[in-house]
Amino acid sequence: MNISTSALQEKNAKHLIQSFSDLSYIKNPESTHIISKADGVYIYDNDGKKILDSMSGLWCVNMGYGQQSIIEAVNKQMKELVYYNNFFGSSHPSAIKLSEMIANKTPEGMNKVYFCGSGSEANDTVVRLARHYWAAKGKPSKSVIISRTNAYHGSTMAGASLGGMSAMHAQGGLPIADIEHVDQPYYYDACVEAGGKIDADEFGIKVAQSLAKKIDELGEDRVAAFIAEPIQGAGGVIIPPKTYWPEISKICKERNILLVADEVICGFGRTGEWFGSGHFNFKPDLMPFAKGVTSGYLPVGGVIVRDDIVEVLADAKQEFAHGYTYSGHPACMAAAVANLELMESTNILHQVKNNTAPYLGDKWKDLESHSLVGEARHLGMLAAIEIVEDKENCKRFDNSAEIVGRCKNFCYENGIVMRAIKNKMVIAPPLICNNEHIDEIIAKVWKCLDLTAQSIK
Ligand SMILES: *Cc1c(COP(=O)(O)O)cnc(C)c1O
Repeated sequence: MNISTSALQEKNAKHLIQSFSDLSYIKNPESTHIISKADGVYIYDNDGKKILDSMSGLWCVNMGYGQQSIIEAVNKQMKELVYYNNFFGSSHPSAIKLSEMIANKTPEGMNKVYFCGSGSEANDTVVRLARHYWAAKGKPSKSVIISRTNAYHGSTMAGASLGGMSAMHAQGGLPIADIEHVDQPYYYDACVEAGGKIDADEFGIKVAQSLAKKIDELGEDRVAAFIAEPIQGAGGVIIPPKTYWPEISKICKERNILLVADEVICGFGRTGEWFGSGHFNFKPDLMPFAKGVTSGYLPVGGVIVRDDIVEVLADAKQEFAHGYTYSGHPACMAAAVANLELMESTNILHQVKNNTAPYLGDKWKDLESHSLVGEARHLGMLAAIEIVEDKENCKRFDNSAEIVGRCKNFCYENGIVMRAIKNKMVIAPPLICNNEHIDEIIAKVWKCLDLTAQSIK
C-alpha cells in the first residue's frame, strides 16, 4: 500500500512533531522530505528519488542500510527473549555478550560497560556516574563537569547542558547547575578571527590551556570531569590540531580530573579505529557511545567505564540508583552484536583506514581549489568544507547560514544528502562506501558548490 507523498506530508504536518526543525512546516506540509526506503548507501524518497546518504542517516548507519545479518539477528533474538531488564540483580545473555565484545575493543583497564538507549542518556549517565564516583571517594564537592562551547552531547537536560550550543541553552533554562564551558579547538574559526592562517600547533596548546585555566579558577576540588568529543561532529566536524589532545590529557591527569571522551560519533570505526580517542592516542576514563554501535538499526547507547571507577562504586555500600527500562534491551543488544560481527568479518576498519578514508581525503583536499572553499578538512570518514567569501584572508560571508542552506538544497535536488552547519558543509559517509561512491560524492559536491557560487553572483 503506497500512500502518496502529499497525503503523507499532510498527515505529518497535522500530527507529527519533527526534531531540530522549524515547526512552521505544520503550515507548509510540502517542505518535509519523506524518506521511505533505503539500501546500501542510498536512501529513496517516497517518489522513488535515489539519494546518496553521505551523512549515514545521523552519523550512525556506518555499515549501510539493509544488512540482512543484523535484521535476522534481531528477529531471532525477539523470538527467544524479546525483553528483559538488568534491574534489581538481573542480567541476560545478549547484553552480557555485547559488553564483552565492546570490552575487547577498549584500551586496557576499561572493561565495564553500562547500557542505555541513546547518546543523550549515555551522557546523563556520565554526569551521574562522575559525581557519584567522587562522592563515594569522599569528595562530594567535585561536582562540576567542564565541557566546551559548540560541543554536542545530546538533547536531554544534562546532554544539552553539557553541549555548548547557545540556541539549545536558550530553550528550557539550561545549563543545569555545575556545568562549565571552555574554548573549542576550532582552528579555522581562529584563522577567521585573525584574518589569515595562524600556527595550528601553537593554537592547539593555547586552546587546551583554557581548560587548565578554568580548573584552576574553580579549584580542582570542585571539578569532577572534562567531557569532549575527540572530533566535534554536530559542531561542524572540528578536527583539533595534533597538539591539543596530549595537552588536554596532561592537564586532566595533573589536576586529578576524569577525562570523558564522547565517542558517540567517533566510536566504532568513524576514524578508522574502534575509538576516536584511540586515533588521537589518549586514554579516557569514561567513553559514552551510541550511534555506530548498532549502525542505527536499533537504539543503543552506553558508557564504557574504567575498571577502578566501578570498583570504587562497588565498595560504596549503596546501590547504584540509576537505570532505564530499556538498558540492555535484548533485541537492541542483538543488533549491536550482529553489527560488530559484521564489522569484524568484513574487516571494515582496515578497509577504511587503508583505502576508503585516504581515497576520500585526497579528493576532498582538491576542493580547496574551489572559489568558495576556505578549508577542506578530513579525518577518517568525516569531512567538512568552510564556505568563505575571501580565501586569502579567511573571511566568511555575512549571510553564511543562508548560503550553506542553499547549498544543502542543491545537494538534495542533485541526489546527495549533505549537512549544512552555520558556515560549513559536512559529510560522514557510511564506512562501506567504495571508491565509486566516493567519486559520486565528490562529483556532486563540486557541482553543488558551483551552483551555490552561481547563485551568489
Ligand atoms: C548524537 C550525539 C549525541 C546524542 O546522541 P542521541 O542518541 O541523539 O541522544 C551525543 N554526543 C555526540 C557526540 C553526538 O554526536
